[in-house]
Amino acid sequence: MAIRRIAVLGGGPGGLYAARLLKLADPRREIDVYEQGEPGRTFGFGVGLASRTQRNLADADPDTLADIVAAAHGHGVEMRVGSRAARINPANLLAIARTSLLDVLRRQAEAAGVPVHFGGRKTAADLDADLLVAADGVSSATRGAAAADFGATIEVGAGLYLWCGTDFALPTAMFAPLTTEHGTFVAHAYPYAPDRSTFLIETDEKTWRNAGFDESTEQTPWDASDEVSIGYLQEAFAEYLRGHHLIGNRTRWLRFRTVRCRSWHHGRTVLLGDAAHTAHYSIGSGTKLAMEDAIALTQALNLDGDLRQLLAHYERQRRPDVAHLQSIAHRSQLWWESFPTRTDLPVEQLTVAYMTRAGKVPVDRFRQASPQVATAALAQYAQVPPADVPAGEVDDWVLSSPLEHGGRRFGSRALAADDPLLPSLVRLEYDLTDAWGAEADALAQRAARDRHDGAAGYLLTGANARDSVLDRLEFAERLRLLTGALVVVEAATEYRPDLVAGLVSGRIDLVALPSTAASNP
Ligand SMILES: Cc1cc2nc3c(=O)[nH]c(=O)nc-3n(C[C@H](O)[C@H](O)[C@H](O)COP(=O)(O)OP(=O)(O)OC[C@H]3O[C@@H](n4cnc5c(N)ncnc54)[C@H](O)[C@@H]3O)c2cc1C
Repeated sequence: MAIRRIAVLGGGPGGLYAARLLKLADPRREIDVYEQGEPGRTFGFGVGLASRTQRNLADADPDTLADIVAAAHGHGVEMRVGSRAARINPANLLAIARTSLLDVLRRQAEAAGVPVHFGGRKTAADLDADLLVAADGVSSATRGAAAADFGATIEVGAGLYLWCGTDFALPTAMFAPLTTEHGTFVAHAYPYAPDRSTFLIETDEKTWRNAGFDESTEQTPWDASDEVSIGYLQEAFAEYLRGHHLIGNRTRWLRFRTVRCRSWHHGRTVLLGDAAHTAHYSIGSGTKLAMEDAIALTQALNLDGDLRQLLAHYERQRRPDVAHLQSIAHRSQLWWESFPTRTDLPVEQLTVAYMTRAGKVPVDRFRQASPQVATAALAQYAQVPPADVPAGEVDDWVLSSPLEHGGRRFGSRALAADDPLLPSLVRLEYDLTDAWGAEADALAQRAARDRHDGAAGYLLTGANARDSVLDRLEFAERLRLLTGALVVVEAATEYRPDLVAGLVSGRIDLVALPSTAASNP
């Protein structure tokens, strides 16, 4: 059956972009978008768009990308801890007001011949079409109404965030922790227009309760902003706000919800964007994923086959990329939720820890992009002057740097097979995926208790898959912070870049490569 009539439920970035691309690919299609909100009004403030996203959009639809770039605002990134700051310049980082992005996408959809109907909440049953594209966001009612068919799971984050804005442009994006009498808050802020910045603030549950925000959250009506929290944080972050106000937009404390679905399509309905999957905001990729879904759906519908085959093809094409980004986002989320534990690191080393937090950016690549910060961090790690850090590739240098720990001196960071230390380490087989969750908590507490007097520290071992190695590095940091003991991670040589990132970021003290750890009992 020809797929002529397409109804798109939701006029967010995913829905609007899908409608335009589907219409451009075949102008004979009758496509309508249904959006419950009004033009110019939406949730949130600015969103970031990384350079890779821009490349993908350029290939799919250069006109739309040109309009997005024209309305966007470029910026660098700064890590600030008190008076210490490290600035990096990731290539081509853009941010854009969500309202501007939606305005561009609506105009482009309409220019392609797609009517956008605003102001009415619709259900799948209201829409008579050959294909229903459900781009109705993280709380998708379409997904909820056919829960068994889509098999959604929703993981709720431990931390809380408050999405605010400000009425001035910060000179650069900024990550800044701040401790009050109630605990630590961390700002993720970035400019997205000449007179606007996003100012998103995170905290942990204990701090949130200590400050009485559990009560203010409860007392805030669904369509209002939590003025108590906004007022408190405006005062706390006054120095960073330079006398400006924090602005709310139905702003309240929320916990991030990670959506995963067993299937993204059922019958004539396909889920797209946040309705199908979400990825923690700290990697700034939810909009990108929604728009790339639209590209993949358009490509799939251009093929021959029946609707079921085409939707299955779309899902097969998209799943690996989405799963990969969700995995990166999960690590990033855990890293930010545990961020206050590592603010004692020198700010340059903290910046390397930030860049390498999800295993996506190796130290060498980061150094090419931000040589000054990376060289300072490497010098801090090895406790040498920056001039002593070699130019070029540094992995060998990192691994061969000596270490003093607990009155012992190690000639390098890689343990030799006959190192007399190995038999005295407490060996832990680690197979958890959330180093900061309850199970890991219990394991870390038990390990701290059980360390007998003679043990200098821990040897973490486990499966030889990359994700398992990254999990070990995360738990190693936890154990190191908790016990102050020496923590050694075992992993195959192919994971050297991850081990090097772990060393420079202070997650581990030493590494045990298999050939060198072979004699370990
Ligand atoms: C705090 C925070 C910060 C973020 N920062 C970034 C960032 O920097 N970069 C980035 O790429 N992503 C970011 N994201 C993620 C991004 O906002 C989403 O991933 C993106 O908006 C998903 O697009 P979408 O089209 O799938 O859904 P949405 O943008 O949620 O759009 C869904 C639309 O459907 C409409 N709708 C819902 N139900 C109905 C109905 N029944 N009838 C009619 N209309 C309906 C809604 O009104 C809405 O307009 C962030 C998210 C959060 C929570």
